[in-house]
Amino acid sequence: GVSLTAHQDPADRDVEVSLRPRKLSEFVGQSRVREQLELVLHGALKRGDQPDHVLFSGPPGLGKTSLSMIIATELGSSIRVTSGPALERPGDLAAMLSNLNEGDVLFIDEIHRIARPAEEMLYLAMEDYRVDIVVGKGPGATSIPLELAPFTLVGATTRSGALTGPLRDRFGFTAHMEFYTPEELELVLRRSAGILGVDLRDDGAVEIARRSRGTPRIANRLLRRVRDFAEVRADGAVTREVARSALEVYDVDELGLDRLDRAVLGALIGSFHGGPVGISTLAVAVGEEPTTVEEVCEPYLVRAGLLARTPRGRVATAAAWEHLGLTPPQHAPG
Ligand code: ADP
Repeated sequence: GVSLTAHQDPADRDVEVSLRPRKLSEFVGQSRVREQLELVLHGALKRGDQPDHVLFSGPPGLGKTSLSMIIATELGSSIRVTSGPALERPGDLAAMLSNLNEGDVLFIDEIHRIARPAEEMLYLAMEDYRVDIVVGKGPGATSIPLELAPFTLVGATTRSGALTGPLRDRFGFTAHMEFYTPEELELVLRRSAGILGVDLRDDGAVEIARRSRGTPRIANRLLRRVRDFAEVRADGAVTREVARSALEVYDVDELGLDRLDRAVLGALIGSFHGGPVGISTLAVAVGEEPTTVEEVCEPYLVRAGLLARTPRGRVATAAAWEHLGLTPPQHAPG
C-alpha cells in the first residue's frame, strides 16, 4: 500500500510545487503567524533593516517551506534552500553563506539535524554576518574572517525541542505552526482544484478536508487520489460519495488516519494493552523509525485525542479504543 503521510514520490513533489501558495494573501490559515510575520517583515522593510532570523516549527506539510518562500517574495529578494542533513561539513555551510547576496533569504529545512561544527559557524553568521574559515591543520592552522552580506535565515524544524539553546536564541522570531481546521483545508482544496482543473463539489471538499489530518499537504495529495478515482470510476466530479469511496481504496479512514497511524494505535492497544509504552518500543512494534512515529504520526494522534503523552510513556485514550471498535478498559484516559 501507499503511505499518504510519511513518504513522497518525485511526481507528487512536482505537483506540490505547482500548488504552493506564492503570496501571503494566498496562504490559507495560520492567521496569528501570518499577522506576526507581516509585522516583522514590514517593520524591518520600513526601517530599511534586514529582518530578524525566523524559525518555524511544527509537523510536516503545514506550510513551513511555503512561508519561507513567501518571506523572500515579500522582501523582494532571492531564496537559497538547503537542509540540516546536507550541511555535514562546515565548508558546505561556508560555501552557501558566502554566495548570499545582500538581503537574501537562506532557508534551512530540518535545521535540528545540522552537524555541530556547522551549527557553531552559524552562530557567528547569524549574529555578525561573519564566518571564520579555518585554513590548514595543527599548529599552523589560521582562521580567516570572512564578511557576509546581510541575510535572513529561515529555519524549519519538526522538533523545536531538539534545537540547542544557543541556536534557538539567535532567532528573533519563532512561530509554531498549528494543524489547520477543516474549514481552512476546504479553502486549500478549492484553490488547488482550481489550479488542477478538478471538478470539486462542496460536499466533496468537506469530506476530503475532514480526513486530511489537519495538513494542507495531505489535503492536496488526497485531492489528487480522489480525482483519479473520479475520472476512472465515475464521471469526474468529486462529490462526497466519490470522495468516500476513493478514500476507502486508499486506506484513509473516517478520521483521516492512514495505515501507519492505525498501526501505532493497533500496537499500543493490541500489544501493550493501551500503554503506557515508550516511543522506541512502539516504533519497533510498527517497524518504523522512532522519529517518524514521533514527528509524523504522533502530533496528529494527540491532537485528535486518540493518544496521550504521559511521563511513563504513550497511552491510548478511550476514543482510540472505540475508534478500533473495542471497549476501553477502566484505566484508559478520556
Ligand atoms: P512544510 O515545509 O511544513 O513541510 P510545505 O510548505 O512544503 O510544508 O507545504 C506542503 C504543501 O502544502 C505546499 O506545496 C502547498 O501546496 C500546501 N500548503 C501548505 N500550507 C499551505 C497554506 N497555508 N495554504 C495553501 N496551501 C498550503
